[in-house]
Amino acid sequence: MKVTILGSSGSVSSPTNPASGYLVSTENSPSLLVDIGPGVMAKLQELQDPCEAHVAFSHLHADHCLDFPSLLVWRRFHPTAPAKSRNLCFGPTTTPVHLGRLSSSSPDEVDDMSDTFAFDSWQVGQPQIIDRLTVTPFPAVHPIESYSLRIQEHTTNKVVAYSGDSGWTDSLIECAKDADVFMCEATWGAGNGTYPPEMHLSGAEAGRIARLAGARSLVLIHIPPWGDPNGAVAAARTEFDGPVTIGESGLEIIV
Ligand SMILES: [Zn+2]
Ligand SMILES: [Zn+2]
Repeated sequence: MKVTILGSSGSVSSPTNPASGYLVSTENSPSLLVDIGPGVMAKLQELQDPCEAHVAFSHLHADHCLDFPSLLVWRRFHPTAPAKSRNLCFGPTTTPVHLGRLSSSSPDEVDDMSDTFAFDSWQVGQPQIIDRLTVTPFPAVHPIESYSLRIQEHTTNKVVAYSGDSGWTDSLIECAKDADVFMCEATWGAGNGTYPPEMHLSGAEAGRIARLAGARSLVLIHIPPWGDPNGAVAAARTEFDGPVTIGESGLEIIV
């Protein structure tokens, strides 16, 4: 299994880093694109046929889903290589309506996208088999319906855990239990705890969750363009003894 970070910028894209988008690849099956924020569609085109991917949303804040309508245009209207068949799309309950509005010609309409994706909604703790991967959603703590995702490859049993956007919750410890790679948001960077509750995590909190979960490595993501990635890493290292890296756009992680 390989994870390629297409974009990891928190809340908004940056000049060198799209907003959230993580491409999980396995041999001889479609990829799984986890979130598709602004700028992710451009990066995806550099790496593969955009049609050859299932999609999984952690939640539907704009920085995690706004390039989805562009993906639909490619799948439906590419003159020589449109999508040959439907792919899977998992997300919060409102995904077909929320994204259907984004993709429609009028704010009062909802584009019926079932021609190109089979939509299904996450149920907490209920694993979904997506080709060679099993994805289990855990409840995140965030202002809208949001999930952290535990992704396990069938042939190797290797695990990648993805926090999505979340404040502190013990569910994240369960989600990242013994994970080979824990990709955890660290929006508040080296913050000292004076930030709004139930929104995001600091680098220190990400490190603490990685330690409590027994994760083997920690990749810090969702740091905004105005943030301090090095401060986030230093804070995480005060809590977690394993390897800590910054999840920059273009980073490939072999799991
Ligand atoms: Zn976000
Ligand atoms: Zn969010």
